[in-house]
Amino acid sequence: MNLPPLPFVDLRPGEDAADVRTAIDRVIARGWFVLGPEVEAFEAEFAAASGARHAVGVATGTDAITLLLRAAGIGAGDEVIVPAMTAAYTGLAVIAAGARPVFADVEAERITLDASACAAAVTSKTRAIVPVHLYGQSADMTALQRVAQRHSLLLIEDCCQAHLGTAAGVPVGTTGAGGAFSFYPTKNLGALGDGGAVITNDASIADRIRRLRNGGQSDRYHHVVAGINSRLDEIQAAILRAKLPRLAAATARRRSLAAAYRRQLPASVTPVPELDAGHVYHLFPVRSPERDAFQAHLRTLGVETLIHYPVALPQQPAFSAFAPADCPYAARAAAEVLSLPLYPRLDESDITRVADAARAFQKGRVPA
Ligand SMILES: *Cc1c(COP(=O)(O)O)cnc(C)c1O
Repeated sequence: MNLPPLPFVDLRPGEDAADVRTAIDRVIARGWFVLGPEVEAFEAEFAAASGARHAVGVATGTDAITLLLRAAGIGAGDEVIVPAMTAAYTGLAVIAAGARPVFADVEAERITLDASACAAAVTSKTRAIVPVHLYGQSADMTALQRVAQRHSLLLIEDCCQAHLGTAAGVPVGTTGAGGAFSFYPTKNLGALGDGGAVITNDASIADRIRRLRNGGQSDRYHHVVAGINSRLDEIQAAILRAKLPRLAAATARRRSLAAAYRRQLPASVTPVPELDAGHVYHLFPVRSPERDAFQAHLRTLGVETLIHYPVALPQQPAFSAFAPADCPYAARAAAEVLSLPLYPRLDESDITRVADAARAFQKGRVPA
């Protein structure tokens, strides 16, 4: 008997559907659609949920990183260290700020920015480090903060996969100058379109980002700096407000599904280890030495998976102008990782199905 397909994600509103509709209707009835009362209220609510003093809504997570860098004074002539394994947008955001991305390798197991590789990449032009809390697990912020302090560098955290996450108990995005979040629909807190936010405890950074996101205006039609257009919609902000109260429960659910995977998966696949209890499981990547065959096998059993990410940043043609150094651990992750389905709407029987499918692959590989 063939089971129905198990999709990698399901983005349709679920138990929050009625609240999402109410939120959209409220904005339509008000007739005010870009930067307004919903954005302001969401900023206050998201800052509180994230353990920061300020939040500023912007158009995307990429813009959140770029605007944080710009607000911190980073631009032309500056170097910014980025992990070699992340969404390419982390590196693209550095370029959009006018700075040069310098890629440093990741830790072998955790796949987040390695502090010693980061220290080795520092030059006289380095101004900032952008650790990425990849898959929902924080980078080793204790070690990275030491590197930042030793070399007087800013820490700007890419929290696009780590809403409500913590690093050794400290909320992500609050260790250094600030944190950048994405509300792309697949993220742990997702809009029904694009969205992003910066969190910071520094009021002057928050003020500068508010200005930069809106064309650099001080008052309407008075542009004092060359900002960009990166405004958050009222409808998206209202939707995010409707979803935010359920985020903690959804995160707990992700953690419990991840624990079920760890109990049930066969030894032939190796989950990326949980090294920090503040992991929020945006994704559940495993390593398999026969990754592509394993993915094809799961597909024949109706289990949809994705690869995050198949190409390390130094190997992306988009970054070739920056003469990136090879980063072997990032390259190895690109060849070995496979993300299994994990989202709050799954239940433990779905996890069992994926684990059984993984076990069947192992059996099928035993020579006759
Ligand atoms: C999603 C993501 C981004 C970019 O966010 P957008 O909202 O798509 O611009 C940046 N970094 C990481 C790690 C991401 O996962």
